[in-house]
Amino acid sequence: MGEKNFRDITSLKVGGSIKHFFEVKNKEGLVRAVIFAKSNKLPIFTIGDGTDIAVSDDDYNGVVIKYIGNNISYTGNNVTAESGVNWDKLVEETVNRNLQGIECLSGIPGTVGAAPIQNIGAYGQELSDIFHNLTAYNIGKEKFVTFDKNDCKFGYRSSKFKNIKFWQKFIITDVILKLNKNKKLDLNKIRQDILKLRNEKLEDPKLIPNAGSFFINPFVNFKTKERLEKKYRDMKFYVTGDKFKIPAGYLIEKAGWKGKSLGPVKVSDKHALVIINPDGKGTFKDIKKLADAIIKDVNKIFGIKLEPEVQYINV
Ligand SMILES: Cc1cc2nc3c(=O)[nH]c(=O)nc-3n(C[C@H](O)[C@H](O)[C@H](O)COP(=O)(O)OP(=O)(O)OC[C@H]3O[C@@H](n4cnc5c(N)ncnc54)[C@H](O)[C@@H]3O)c2cc1C
Repeated sequence: MGEKNFRDITSLKVGGSIKHFFEVKNKEGLVRAVIFAKSNKLPIFTIGDGTDIAVSDDDYNGVVIKYIGNNISYTGNNVTAESGVNWDKLVEETVNRNLQGIECLSGIPGTVGAAPIQNIGAYGQELSDIFHNLTAYNIGKEKFVTFDKNDCKFGYRSSKFKNIKFWQKFIITDVILKLNKNKKLDLNKIRQDILKLRNEKLEDPKLIPNAGSFFINPFVNFKTKERLEKKYRDMKFYVTGDKFKIPAGYLIEKAGWKGKSLGPVKVSDKHALVIINPDGKGTFKDIKKLADAIIKDVNKIFGIKLEPEVQYINV
């Protein structure tokens, strides 16, 4: 246990100090950290690698728990990974074992424990496609519980755990994925192609502070699609059920924000969907101000309200 700063443990490099930071290796350590928080009447925030959060600049007088247990085991085509496993390491390992199902999720930063929170997805695959179940500690009831796929209520970049009712109420310790024995695909080639593509398209958080796609791609109905495509001939729409998904990056670029700065933070030159904190001097306030300006302009031009994908943590 010790003090830390959110700036040092998040990829966007913003946020205030943390009074009590616990790295726990196993379930016993986790329970001890929760008991500490409860007996001192302190709030708990669970963190992974901090690649999908923007934390407010205020100091946090609470407990931050990071589960670092990182075992991986296999039973047939099922893989069980502890929350502290690096997500991409899991992908690499399963690809090497010729297990199919997460190869298109190569290169997504972060931990296994955070993957169900927003049902990570990319290039046509989502965690929910191969998710079997997870184990989590129910902080309120002080017991470990299992959630299967239905219980998790997965949606597009969402799950039950993002719902305000369940937010920060469960600490995930293990995830089981039901993968497929690969018969005909060259999984390693798919992985390498995706890693190359991501490298060209996205900003590397190890070099430039960022949290990946800042906004969720919006969905519109048929009427809105008709209205927009008349005006914007090059706008792309992806059919999903009776809705149409529009790349948020396109809207931001058209609104003139690509590569533009506001104070010390800016929209990436590479990808309009990514907000960067180039020399780590920006604060949460700066990030929020830029995001709000983008939301306002996109709404004014297209009549579409963008929602952040990055979670604002107002500790
Ligand atoms: C360059 C870049 C590219 C990205 N590309 C993609 C992409 O293609 N697709 C995609 O879906 N995402 C993408 N992301 C977002 C991010 O990688 C994922 O959301 C990832 O799952 C976050 O993992 P993390 O460990 O960093 O989570 P954190 O940012 O630490 O936490 C995210 C959320 O999960 C919760 N959480 C973390 N660990 C646990 C746990 N053990 N138990 C309970 N709750 C927990 C936190 O409280 C928080 O609400 C990208 C991010 C970056 C920086």
